[in-house]
Amino acid sequence: MATNIPLTGVFRVTCEFKKKGNWACGWHTGIDMACDNDKIYSSCDGEVTRTGWDDSYGNFIVVKNDTDGKYHWFCHLSKINVSKGQRVSRTSVIGIMGSTGNSTGKHLHFEIRNESNKYADNSNPAEYMGIPNKIGEYNSANYQIGNSNSNNSSTGEMKTLSRNTNLRSEPTTKASAVLYLANTTLYVLQEGVAQADGYTWDKVRIRVNGKEGYMINKNYK
Ligand SMILES: [Zn+2]
Repeated sequence: MATNIPLTGVFRVTCEFKKKGNWACGWHTGIDMACDNDKIYSSCDGEVTRTGWDDSYGNFIVVKNDTDGKYHWFCHLSKINVSKGQRVSRTSVIGIMGSTGNSTGKHLHFEIRNESNKYADNSNPAEYMGIPNKIGEYNSANYQIGNSNSNNSSTGEMKTLSRNTNLRSEPTTKASAVLYLANTTLYVLQEGVAQADGYTWDKVRIRVNGKEGYMINKNYK
């Protein structure tokens, strides 16, 4: 299984996306992450569109995501293993973490630029990876991408939660609940599978770890 995270194992988020501060645009356009394992994996399947040096970003690699045409930037690298035009996948080690450019310590600055590929036109990389946009320690093993197609009798429509929401182990409010943070994405496997506690329940699957459970119909947005 793979993840949308460019690091593997235990890693730390050391600076959040869009934190206000002393950046050229006034906010942090990516997310900073550090890890004992220095290997940097591509966070998507796609094509290397650029590699090079920038006084701020240091050694950097840009990969264009096949799926949505957005640009994934991997910065401050000590080593670049790929070259322009090369095809990469989530299992490709594309570079080695470093502290080149404007950096105070070894870390990866990972940012996702929208189709414009312009500075400060970004998507939230934490949302893409399925992790909280919050300083803390995480383990990539908890954010494996579930197979969204197996066992899926419906369209597998994906929803992005806009607030903290409980997924239930059974279709009732009395069942054990797991809190999912805002920006968690999920597939609706089947709508209206049960009636309980005065609600209609849908069966859903969390994208990042493949966990299945039940949520109150139309109440998970
Ligand atoms: Zn950064």
